[in-house]
Amino acid sequence: MLHRILILLLIASQAVADNYPRNESIDIKKYIFRVELNDTTNRIAGQATIMLAVKNAIRDFELDLVQQQQDKGMTVSEVRLGSRQLIFSHRNNRLKILLPAEVSPGNEIVVSIRYTGIPRDGLIISKNKFGDRTFFGDNWPDRARNWLPAIDHPYDKAKVEFIVVAPPHYDVVANGTKVEQSFISSKQKLTHWREDVDIPTKVMVIGVARFAIQHAGTVNNIPVESWVYPQNKEAGFSDYQPAAKVLDFFNRVIGPYPYEKLANVQSTTIYGGMENASNIFYYENSVTGKGAVENLIAHEIAHQWFGNSASEKDWHHVWLSEGFATYFTHVYNEFTYGTDKLKEGLVADRATVIQYCSRSPASVIDTRITDYPKLLSPHVYQRAGWVLHMLRQEVGDEAFFAGIRNYYTRFRNANALTSDFRQVMEESSGKPLGTFFNQWLEEEKLPELSVQWSYSQAAKGVLLTIEQVPGRVFELSLEIALHTEKGEPVIHTVKINQKSTKITLPADLKPVKLELDPQVKLLFKGNLRN
Ligand SMILES: [Zn+2]
Repeated sequence: MLHRILILLLIASQAVADNYPRNESIDIKKYIFRVELNDTTNRIAGQATIMLAVKNAIRDFELDLVQQQQDKGMTVSEVRLGSRQLIFSHRNNRLKILLPAEVSPGNEIVVSIRYTGIPRDGLIISKNKFGDRTFFGDNWPDRARNWLPAIDHPYDKAKVEFIVVAPPHYDVVANGTKVEQSFISSKQKLTHWREDVDIPTKVMVIGVARFAIQHAGTVNNIPVESWVYPQNKEAGFSDYQPAAKVLDFFNRVIGPYPYEKLANVQSTTIYGGMENASNIFYYENSVTGKGAVENLIAHEIAHQWFGNSASEKDWHHVWLSEGFATYFTHVYNEFTYGTDKLKEGLVADRATVIQYCSRSPASVIDTRITDYPKLLSPHVYQRAGWVLHMLRQEVGDEAFFAGIRNYYTRFRNANALTSDFRQVMEESSGKPLGTFFNQWLEEEKLPELSVQWSYSQAAKGVLLTIEQVPGRVFELSLEIALHTEKGEPVIHTVKINQKSTKITLPADLKPVKLELDPQVKLLFKGNLRN
């Protein structure tokens, strides 16, 4: 009874939100960001036009925007509702906007904000490795607020347009479709991109640089492009070439790609790759000409479905992004290069997880984290990827992939929590998965199995004693291979759901060797003794 209550409490704890001050009284429908850039200073001039639905009676609402301190940050000069000036305050990096009395629930309003300043972060203005000046948005997790006034949290997704005015020697890439490019004067060019699908701010970006642009083809009518620095054009076009193959694979396995195009962009992101919606940014040294970034490309493209389109509603559920991108990279490798490639990836990931878990035990859903960049660890990448692999074993390939497709269909361009994903998988498999999700996502430690074996001539079998080290008792299926002098090894599956399990596996001859988990299906720390 206590155990059951404890499980219920742990599941209920998933509903506990991260500490972002959500505002359920408004819903942002669309942002239009006009950003002016220049070559003499790092100061940007911004105008944000925001369409939002008012759902409850409110007098005011707040947006995130990092305000000016010393020489960096943004200063707001004006906020308008149509032609009317609105009263606002800008404190603690929150822009509070007072609404006139006639705004009532059910209204959709358009608020515009003029601001200027040098971005402290979020829009990285620097030089690339060839010495060319570049501007790259780098918003994850909540750094958009450094240059864009917004609800800077994935729970309120919106459409976005970027109108970038910059000196004419720059090419500009952003989310969605390019709808206009015009020379305004000899000193300024306007480029307008429009994303018609709701996306979170973490993946709303522009990239402004001198680029060589390759239209590499289309996959299911989706244009695939490479944007690289002209100085390493041939190498870049060649390195980013696997993107079309990856896109085609995920389209078939998961469902239709959510966006209008896929651009793969060489950039100065602080991450190895950043999955910005429909224009992925890769670190600049990803271009080597050696074709070494296929896994990175697969990871970032998988994010277009998981993280960008079906987004975590709460930062503590970031494994719904990173675990999925990690595992679907392995799945891409499995179907493209064979099962051995999948196993190789999982074996490497398991070693990373075992080492990391012993040093820094924490659960995959770690509600203690309030500093969001700290969310990124092997717990939400390799370990969470392993959770998906074990879920696939638990429900079988057919139910697993059907469930993945259903999850994407249901939460496409929306938000989900772990409980939503679990529900979809329970529906597609017809299996209750409470214990599975709980033990693999809420438990800090990994299962640790001590396996002792001996051979009994009289019983014609291998006598096994499997002990779980003190701590939680996991429910597991462990495969054990009995290797003999000749012939293929015989694989048995042992169900473990107690602290100590004793079982005899039939064997006419004494095996020369036992092997735990020969087919790489279980995330555990094992210790085999004879
Ligand atoms: Zn990722």
